[in-house]
Amino acid sequence: MNENAIPASLTAEASAPRVILRKGKEESLRRFHPWVFSGAVHHIDGEVSEGDVVSVYTAEGEFVARGHWQIGSIAVRVLTFNDEPIDEDFWLSRLEQARKVRLALTLDVPGHNTIYRLVHGEGDNLPGLVIDIYGGVAVMQAHSVGMHYSRMQIAHALRQTMGESLTAIYYKSETTLPFKASLGQENGFLYGQSDADVALENGLRFHIDWLKGQKTGFFVDQRDNRSLLEHYAKGRAVLNMFCYTGGFSVYAMRGGARLVHSVDSSAKAVELVNDNVGLNFPDDLRHEAFAEDAFRFLDEMKPQYDLIILDPPAFAKHKDSLKNALRGYTKLNARAFEKMPSGGILFTFSCSQAVNKEQFRLAVFTAAAISRRRVRILHQLHQPADHPINIYHPEGEYLKGLVLYVE
Ligand code: SAH
Repeated sequence: MNENAIPASLTAEASAPRVILRKGKEESLRRFHPWVFSGAVHHIDGEVSEGDVVSVYTAEGEFVARGHWQIGSIAVRVLTFNDEPIDEDFWLSRLEQARKVRLALTLDVPGHNTIYRLVHGEGDNLPGLVIDIYGGVAVMQAHSVGMHYSRMQIAHALRQTMGESLTAIYYKSETTLPFKASLGQENGFLYGQSDADVALENGLRFHIDWLKGQKTGFFVDQRDNRSLLEHYAKGRAVLNMFCYTGGFSVYAMRGGARLVHSVDSSAKAVELVNDNVGLNFPDDLRHEAFAEDAFRFLDEMKPQYDLIILDPPAFAKHKDSLKNALRGYTKLNARAFEKMPSGGILFTFSCSQAVNKEQFRLAVFTAAAISRRRVRILHQLHQPADHPINIYHPEGEYLKGLVLYVE
């Protein structure tokens, strides 16, 4: 890892470039919203490159915030609203706060639950940074160049925060850093080394593929929703569509499902789900996995599943693709409703940040109406507490789900 790439501006706030806002554009910052949009910037005093720490001032010259400079529609992601240095103490105090919240959630229970999210970007006042814990291994992911430059300081603070319990820090930002920044970043360990890739979620064992897997290797955000699914699984025939590592499948097995079919278009995912089912229920013939396209599978399947999970990838990555995304959710859910026997239960999700709760609900409502089914909402689901939402940043609410009873 190249440790020399830390720009001087990271440690010398006094000389940090100053971003001067247009008149009145500090209003959202006064309400602690952690983004400065490029349209709000009047000019910059000094030289600035992507990833630099910048100080933000009003048109009248008053300090309002300090954060990382970015290229794009979000120009600054705010780290602090105080006039304080962004140094090792800063990272340490932010990580200690994040850890304190996780301790309050009692998610770190050796022998029972060792998977949880320690840092969730804006939700932990650390925009652009994600840290997931898998037993003794922390997987750290930067979504901004500024966080990338600070990675060694953050890793150091992380070791102090976690103490003995941490054996390794794996940095996994190859695909999450802005492509245009051309950082040539490769994934690798920043500290220690580990090949102990089995961790626990609610007593179930999962292989975590932090080397090559999606996100940090596992979808930590579905833990509570998987638990709820377990509760409904008894005696049912379960279809886990978009299964990835098979979290929902393994919980359904423990819940006493009659059969569990896992589907994902990726052959690698099918391998992972088979591995994870095997880890917990070796030689259990109730489970089978299929590498197939979701729409094709739903079109061709018999109406044999009375518990279906639809957890697709984000259909809308940006606001521009919102309309198409909503159509996609409607189409997908309509297919499931059409094939659902009476008394069936549907767990349906959207993880698109650009789609809000009401829009998702409307898309599913439309699907129910198209398929002319009588549908009741049993639960409204969301992301778990270790993916907290900064109250000043409602955009942080990204995971939405509905549990529906189909008559
Ligand atoms: N439910 C999973 C996470 C799902 S991630 C969990 O709890 O861990 C979304 C998955 O959808 C990915 O694994 C991806 O390979 C799969 N996918 C994407 N497009 C698909 C398609 N058209 N048909 C089936 N699977 C698809």
